[in-house]
Amino acid sequence: MKKTAIFPGSFDPYTNGHHDIVMRGLDIFDEIVVGIGYNSSKKSRYFEIDKMVQKIEEVYKDIPAVKVVVYNELTSSLAKKHNANFLLRGLRNTTDFEYENTISQMNRYLNTDLETVFLITSPQYAAVSSTIIREVHRYGGNVSEFLPYEV
Ligand code: ADP
Repeated sequence: MKKTAIFPGSFDPYTNGHHDIVMRGLDIFDEIVVGIGYNSSKKSRYFEIDKMVQKIEEVYKDIPAVKVVVYNELTSSLAKKHNANFLLRGLRNTTDFEYENTISQMNRYLNTDLETVFLITSPQYAAVSSTIIREVHRYGGNVSEFLPYEV
């Protein structure tokens, strides 16, 4: 049976840390759907959603096993839609763990077929976060070293 995982997140922006999780995830799964959670009525993103989709698609243009979708529903519903039995998430530290623990429990409750698989960050990306990249970019700093594409 084909193993499909959803890699859900805000990806505002998508970073080398995210890219690393997907590339390592491909050793485990046949297909990975990068799901960008987005609520158009909230308009709270820093990096524009359409641009981000385009950039991520560019990164995986030669890897058909990786798809990119925007969604505005429960992650467990998105998983059902794509016949995905797995969620892929990354862990950097205990703060990530506390947060991930809660959502993983809830996702299992909402869809009992859904197993969350966690990959521990590669050390070189442990300090890379979308939040810090937004801050550096906002004040004109160069963030290209942390992104798998040009901004
Ligand atoms: P969310 O808004 O759901 O936290 P993010 O876009 O911030 O989504 O992150 C998506 C996933 O990627 C989360 O599981 C997060 O822990 C993980 N992640 C983010 N940055 C890194 C990194 N540098 N290394 C490993 N995992 C990461």
